[in-house]
Amino acid sequence: MQGESSKKKLFGTNGIRGIPNEDLSMEFCLKMGKAIGTYFTGEIIAVARDTRVSGHSIMSSVVSGILSTGKNIIDLGILPTPALQFYCRNHQVYGVMITASHNPPEFNGIKCIDRDGTELSKQNEDRIEDAYYSDRFRTVPWKDIGQIYAYGLGIKDYVGGITEKVSSEKIAKRNYRVAFDAGNGAAYLSTPILLDRLGCSVVSLNCNPDGKFSSRPSEPKEENLVALREVMRTGSFDLGIAHDGDADRAVFFNEKGEFIDGDMSLSLLVGSVVRKGDTVVTPVSSSDMLEEICRSRGVELIRTRVGAPVVSREMIERKARIGGEENGGVIFSDHQFCRDGAMTVALFLNLMAETGRKPSELISELPQYHLYRTSLRLSSDWSSIERTFESKVRRLKTDRTDGFKIHEDSGWVLVRPSGTEPIVRIYGHSRNVEDARSLAEKYRNIIEEIQKSKGFV
Ligand code: MG
Repeated sequence: MQGESSKKKLFGTNGIRGIPNEDLSMEFCLKMGKAIGTYFTGEIIAVARDTRVSGHSIMSSVVSGILSTGKNIIDLGILPTPALQFYCRNHQVYGVMITASHNPPEFNGIKCIDRDGTELSKQNEDRIEDAYYSDRFRTVPWKDIGQIYAYGLGIKDYVGGITEKVSSEKIAKRNYRVAFDAGNGAAYLSTPILLDRLGCSVVSLNCNPDGKFSSRPSEPKEENLVALREVMRTGSFDLGIAHDGDADRAVFFNEKGEFIDGDMSLSLLVGSVVRKGDTVVTPVSSSDMLEEICRSRGVELIRTRVGAPVVSREMIERKARIGGEENGGVIFSDHQFCRDGAMTVALFLNLMAETGRKPSELISELPQYHLYRTSLRLSSDWSSIERTFESKVRRLKTDRTDGFKIHEDSGWVLVRPSGTEPIVRIYGHSRNVEDARSLAEKYRNIIEEIQKSKGFV
């Protein structure tokens, strides 16, 4: 990853990621800190980290580099990524988050936050990379070396910012019983505090921040949330909630213990906040459920490439009210232009309180669509089979916003190489489960055949 000799790209789709002391060395982090301190303007840079055991060491190295450039540090401690983003926006300062989001516990990473609270644009990440490779860092005389100031009110500010965006009193009056699974992640304190402020009685799972994700994998997929599902199946709770490692995403279980797909929660929340004439932004991968909701409300839906930062930027440009992804990442612009797990939780409870309906009732009113996700390991570069694939789908209606979104009579398929792993992701989408599955499998087979014909397998 460091690529000290070659000018390898350092920032991926979600900042810098790697395994500390393997492909993410402390020397690299120190130098990256110097590059960040050299490029970022302003006297102060805010930092925070998730619960990973390597968080202290990565952060210390990055911070040491930043301090050497004469910038001061505000250390907010362990926080969800969106809580640091909220601080950056409110104080108009740059930020650095030490996190690898939902990656396994051995990973960690560095994510840069802009002064408006959004993830740093690709262009600005490139400039930090240029600074990194130039080896010309800002240095200051000893007396001007930066200082670290601890700030302990990050959670309080963040939770306060969220509760004022919803009908907190109305929610509190309902006395909801909620089960919450932090997955040993960054929201182990902040989300229980938020739920308490919203008058919920909370049973919390995996709120020990052991930094190793010892209780469950950090990705909040249904199959990883076995304990929460069991708790929800007791029938004693109104809502089940889980986050990923840095809590910019939230997923839900209904009161019967059934998992609510991210497309469904996004569609519900969009439907609950939009007004006629609003704009909503989502990647090409989201369900047509959302499209139908937007159409019925007189709302314009913009489709973008996949990736939360892309959605955020488009939302700012279009002055969109709400947007998000099918993985539980919801961006609510009244609050801030980034995915925010705790804000998503508050919006869901708000919808329940405003309508007086149970989650299962809300879900049953949604248009019925199914998304079937599969993937295929690539034995060579996607670019080497892309042209052959393209020739096979040439006659079909295909949207090239991101990868190939191919429209067939029974639904659509999205074929998209991953930005971080040697796999191609294939999503089948239809009004019924079987069609969604067979569409995805059909294209999975086509790609497999191409790989075989080229002798890659
Ligand atoms: Mg995340």
